[in-house]
Amino acid sequence: MSREIFTFTHREGLGRLGRLRTRHGTVQTPALLPVLNPSDLVLTPEEIRREFGEPLMMTNAYLLKRRFGGGRKIHQMLGYEGPLATDSGGYQILRYGEIEADPDEIVRYQEEIGSDLAVILDVPTGIRASREEAEETVRLTVERARRAVELRSDPEILWCAPVQGGRHLELVEECARAVGSLDYQVHAIGSPVELLEGYEYSDLVDLVMTAKRHLPPDRPVHLFGAGHPSVLPLLVLMGCDTFDSASYILYARDNRYLTRERTLRLEELSFFPCECPVCSSLTPDQLREKPEGERIRELARHNLHVLFGEVRRIRQALAGGRLWEYAEMRCRSHPRLLEGFRRFLDYAEFVERLDPITKPSAFFYLGPESLRRPEVLRYDRRMEEYEPPPLPELLLLPAFEREGVRRGEEVHLVRILPPFGVVPEELEDLYPLGQAVAPRRLDGEVKERMSLSLYRYLQRHGRRYRRIVLLCGEGWEFLKEACLRSGLEVEVRTSSGLKYSKPGDKRGKRNKG
Ligand SMILES: [Zn+2]
Repeated sequence: MSREIFTFTHREGLGRLGRLRTRHGTVQTPALLPVLNPSDLVLTPEEIRREFGEPLMMTNAYLLKRRFGGGRKIHQMLGYEGPLATDSGGYQILRYGEIEADPDEIVRYQEEIGSDLAVILDVPTGIRASREEAEETVRLTVERARRAVELRSDPEILWCAPVQGGRHLELVEECARAVGSLDYQVHAIGSPVELLEGYEYSDLVDLVMTAKRHLPPDRPVHLFGAGHPSVLPLLVLMGCDTFDSASYILYARDNRYLTRERTLRLEELSFFPCECPVCSSLTPDQLREKPEGERIRELARHNLHVLFGEVRRIRQALAGGRLWEYAEMRCRSHPRLLEGFRRFLDYAEFVERLDPITKPSAFFYLGPESLRRPEVLRYDRRMEEYEPPPLPELLLLPAFEREGVRRGEEVHLVRILPPFGVVPEELEDLYPLGQAVAPRRLDGEVKERMSLSLYRYLQRHGRRYRRIVLLCGEGWEFLKEACLRSGLEVEVRTSSGLKYSKPGDKRGKRNKG
C-alpha cells in the first residue's frame, strides 16, 4: 500500500525527491508543513495557499478539538480544501506534562474530522529521560500504535506512527522495528525538538540514523519541529521527507527574522538580506514602525519564504544530483552543524549501499568531508578487487600533469587523481572519476590519501612490473615518500626526462594522437 502512496523519482544519500498522495492532493516531497494554530491564525491557510502554492499544512488535533469540538470536517473548520495533516498533541505532553486526552479518542477524532495525514497520540521521550523512563515511553508508544491499527476505519487517511526512545539508541531501534512492522503509511522521528534547539546536531544525527536504519525504507519519514532552514539539507540527506514548522510564527511574534544561516533580531537589522516580496518592498525601519499585528504577519510571511525557498533549493539539488554537495556547503553555517555532518559521515557505509551509483553531476571536492562520500568509499572497494593488466612497465602520472607523455605499448598508465587516489587507465570512465574536480593546490588530507593509495597500489601490484616511473611535477613531491616506503625501485622523473616513444592523449588513452 505505502508503495503507491509514496513514490520517488530521484535519490541521493538517503534523500529522495518524491510525491506523497493524500485524499486532498498530491504533495511534492521533501515538504515543509507550516503549522497552523487553530485558535490564532496569523496567516490563514488560504493566505498561505495564495502565496506559497498548495502545501500540506499541519495543525494540532488536540487544540482543534478544544477549539471547535466535533461534528465538522477539518477542511471546513480551517477553510482550506488542500491537504491537511494533524498532529496528535504528543508535543504538548512533552512541553506541558499530561494533557486531557485519551489516545483512542484522539485517533477517533482525527478520523471523524477527516484529516489527510494523522498521527497517533505517542508518548515523547524527551532528551533528559532516564533509561527506565525512556523504556516506558517506547512501551506506551508501541502499545498505542498497535491499538490504533485496530481502531482505524477510514483507509484514505495516511497514518503516522512516531519513533520514540530519545538518546537511548537501542530503544530507538526497538521502537522503529516495532512500529515499522505495523500497518502505517508514514513514520515520524519523535523528540528531536530539544536537540534542535540545543544545537545538539550530532545526537540528532544518531537519533535520525538509528530510526532510519530500522524503519521500512519505502515509507516516508517526518521530522517534528525542524524549523530552521540551515538544518534542512542535512535532514533530507539523512532521509527525512517532511518537516513541520511553527517557527515561522513563533519567531515572528518574538521579532526574530530567519535567514538561511541563522536567526537575527529585527532590531539589529540594517538591511534585509532576502529577496522575498516583504523584504523587497520594505526597509527594516519601515517594518519596525508597523503596528504589532501587521509586523508579525509580515515577519511570518518572510520567515515562510525563507523556509519554502530552502525546500525548493533542496528539491532542485536532488533533481540535479547535487544534494550531497549542497548539504556539505550548507553545514558550514555553524560549527555544531558541521560537527553533525561529520557524525553523519560515520554512517557512510550504510548510506553508500543506498546511494545511486551514477549521478547527473560532477564530483566536487569541497573539503576533507568529501573524502567520506559514497563515491569515494565505493571506489576504494572497487580498487580492493582490482587486478592490473599484464604489462611490464608502470607509469604513474599525477592528474594535473599537462605535458603529453610519450610511451610505448608496454606501459600501464596509472593516474593519481585527487581526491580518489590511483586510477588505472582502464577505470577512468567509471563514475565519477572522469568528472572529479578538486582544487589544484592539494590540502593535507588529500595528500595523505594520495600517498596511501599509491603506497597500497605499489605494495599489492608493484612487484609485477619490470620498470616503474613516477612522473613527479611541482607540488607532487610528497609522492616520493610512498615510493620509498614501498621498498621498490621507482624512477622519479620530471616530464622532460621521459623517454617513451608514443604520445598518449590527455586522459592517457592509447593510440590517439
Ligand atoms: Zn524576506
